[in-house]
Amino acid sequence: MIYFDRVTKVYNGNAVALEDVTLSIDPGEFVSIVGHSGAGKSTLLKLLLVEDYPTEGAVYFHSSEIHSLRKHELTAYRQRVGTIFQDFRLLPHKTAYENIAFAMEAAGRSDEEIAADVPHALSLVDLEDKMWNFPHELSGGEKQRVAIARAIVNQPDVIIADEPTGNLDPINTYEVVQILKKINDLGTTVLLTTHNKGVIDSLGKRVVTMDRGRIVRDDATGRYVL
Ligand code: ADP
Repeated sequence: MIYFDRVTKVYNGNAVALEDVTLSIDPGEFVSIVGHSGAGKSTLLKLLLVEDYPTEGAVYFHSSEIHSLRKHELTAYRQRVGTIFQDFRLLPHKTAYENIAFAMEAAGRSDEEIAADVPHALSLVDLEDKMWNFPHELSGGEKQRVAIARAIVNQPDVIIADEPTGNLDPINTYEVVQILKKINDLGTTVLLTTHNKGVIDSLGKRVVTMDRGRIVRDDATGRYVL
């Protein structure tokens, strides 16, 4: 469970990015966060990834306040949260296989686990045939599918997907959204930010709408309303 408890974030003493945000996300939910540019979506995700600290309020993962975790606890928490970004963030000099293996090495997994789990993760995103290709040999949609395989390979509880389809054409957007749905169906919580109205409307899942740092709508099976 993720819980934002009356979180306010003010940058430089005067730029209010989040104002008194309370938000609860249950395990297994698929939640999309929408809002105009500047609404506070990135700030919300940054706080959840402990890349920044709230000015007021607290963020909880299960019963832990994530901004108070000790270093080793924070490392463990980060391994429970997979991330996917608009710009893929693959290592350019590593193959698809090596990009995913690298994430497993960083999590301290054994060679045997890596040899078993990397192909499995690639099969979940339907990319076993591109295992030995480098990022520059892959299309945008394929790169994002490698990034998704990397995000799920350590079996996180939560996937945070920040505008994952922002650089993709409609067909690849559809495929990436289908894969996120599949991951969610397998039990992983998904938190998605997107500007894509079609994605939101086709998902039929919970939609949280933000405006100027506040949550202004929270619909169980929402549509894109801005
Ligand atoms: P979104 O992701 O919805 O576009 P952001 O969370 O990036 O919104 O930004 C929310 C507000 O906080 C905006 O007014 C933005 O200018 C401000 N902001 C975000 N990051 C910073 C920062 N590092 N320093 C100052 N202001 C920031």
